[in-house]
Amino acid sequence: MFNFIKKTFSGLNKTRKNIVNTFSKFHGKKYLTDDEISELESILFQSDLGYDIVDNIVDNFRGKTLSSDESWETKFIELLKKQIPIKCSKSDIDERVILIVGVNGTGKTTTSAKIANYYKNKGEKVSLVGADTYRAAAVEQLSIWADRLGVKYISNASTKDPASIVFDGINAGLKDGSDRIIIDTAGRLHNSVNLMKELEKVCKIAGKFDQSMRVVLVVDSNVGQNGMNQALEFNKFIPIDSLVLTKMDGTARGGIAVSLINKLKLPIDFIGVGEQLDDLVPFDLDIYLEGLIKNE
Ligand code: GDP
Repeated sequence: MFNFIKKTFSGLNKTRKNIVNTFSKFHGKKYLTDDEISELESILFQSDLGYDIVDNIVDNFRGKTLSSDESWETKFIELLKKQIPIKCSKSDIDERVILIVGVNGTGKTTTSAKIANYYKNKGEKVSLVGADTYRAAAVEQLSIWADRLGVKYISNASTKDPASIVFDGINAGLKDGSDRIIIDTAGRLHNSVNLMKELEKVCKIAGKFDQSMRVVLVVDSNVGQNGMNQALEFNKFIPIDSLVLTKMDGTARGGIAVSLINKLKLPIDFIGVGEQLDDLVPFDLDIYLEGLIKNE
């Protein structure tokens, strides 16, 4: 657990730096001037908390006088928590089949391997399925990860039909008694109707098994509010159950997590905080919010 807290904090370093700097200027102040409010507004925008949330915080801070037992930081966290419309405490994924989807380059293949590593470390038996029929490098990369992890790997270079790989993959994983079957799919732009239809078919085939499946959309934190559109568009074709936010370590826009949960009402399962297998942490709202503002 301590390791997860450390990794969440380190993943949020860039985002936190700006926010902490600004709040540190408010220490000892009972109320904020218009200039201070403007500075805060601009920093919160840059962190990608999104217009509505920033507006709400700024409105609450304007004209507010702090009582002696309050701080601007705790008020900030309190207000952010009010923007979370769903239960968002850390909960493990119940589903046996996990389908990883998203736009190209968001980190799907890496995330599939990282999730496999996460569950393997919990003592579970894991299968990885490489169903990216467009990018041979992704299939090869995933097989290298699987080798390194010592988990079963299923793919089929001789077919261009991802649905058939998914069918075989789930079948093999179930026969093998895997606790988790993690499927990496090809990256696709949400506005490419043919590819989205293909994904629809993949979901349909996977749904034929009497197994619960979780469809996880991988979103690159750097794309900010555009991640919102990706989720909405994917959701038109397949029901997205949750999100993984990757590359949190490389961005100062880590506020996007609150914004996504607020607008999409979807949970975030994990955040990616680096390129290595163990650079994946289960999303915990309280730790995340502290990571946005608390000096280590
Ligand atoms: P895909 O096309 O969606 O499958 O993306 P890949 O898994 O191939 O990842 C694209 C690039 O992003 C690779 O260089 C990964 O190492 C990198 N990447 C993935 N997740 C993270 C992360 O959480 N942090 C950082 N810094 N890089 C990441």
